[in-house]
Amino acid sequence: MLTCSLCIHNEKTAKIDIIDGKPLCRECQVYLKHKPNRERIRKELDDVMKKAERAVVAFSGGKDSTVALYLAVEKYHLDVEAVMVDHGFMVEKAIENAKRVARYLNIPFRILRYDYLDIFKKALLKGQSPCRACSRRTMERLRKYALKNGYKYLITGHELPFGHHPYRLMSGGILQVRLLSLMSEEERFKILKKLPFEFPSLAGYTTNCLILGPALEKYWEKHGFSFEHRRIAALVRYGLIDRGKALEKVRKPEVPESIRRKVYEKLGINEK
Ligand SMILES: [Zn+2]
Repeated sequence: MLTCSLCIHNEKTAKIDIIDGKPLCRECQVYLKHKPNRERIRKELDDVMKKAERAVVAFSGGKDSTVALYLAVEKYHLDVEAVMVDHGFMVEKAIENAKRVARYLNIPFRILRYDYLDIFKKALLKGQSPCRACSRRTMERLRKYALKNGYKYLITGHELPFGHHPYRLMSGGILQVRLLSLMSEEERFKILKKLPFEFPSLAGYTTNCLILGPALEKYWEKHGFSFEHRRIAALVRYGLIDRGKALEKVRKPEVPESIRRKVYEKLGINEK
């Protein structure tokens, strides 16, 4: 089976052509034609952050949003509020991490609790990814929270920009800023080390969400690859993570039996 020479796509996950004697996936072909300008994206990020004063940080208690919160406070000196949307399946340790980090940075921290049972149940029953629907709903909750409380900026811990820009305008005039745009995993880990962040033992695939493991497992059984493959291939393409680590991340996860049981029970799904 052919594997893309630039990212980790293979014939199962993407269309691959031979270009100048080398296998190259369609996404990498587009990337090479319209290569994003790293320096310009980082400069845009810097400019917009210097203009901002107050912001909501979407704070899941996972490692990336922890780094984003740190940068918003310590690098850009924003007046921020860290807001966690708990969809009902947050890892307890992520909530503890979030509280500890917020206390350490002396930032107000709020948890908005919702019930995403509908999204998660459907995804697990059908062997689909819950991530897109979950993140869409979460961003909408946060957008409304920002609007209601007079914030113009909503900061998230995503590492991939929106195309060629690190931000996008949401409805109501809220600017969503992906503060980790094009920041490598190595840089992020360097920052994490400065903070009282503890890695939960979730078999390496997540630092905050209980659904992810069982959902990846179910999807794997149905499709034979990870629904994270595309996102992680992009990280490799952008040079944000090395190939070996990326391939580990798209392997079928080993979900601890206790977590699987807990998730299925809570969703009311009878497994086998
Ligand atoms: Zn590729």
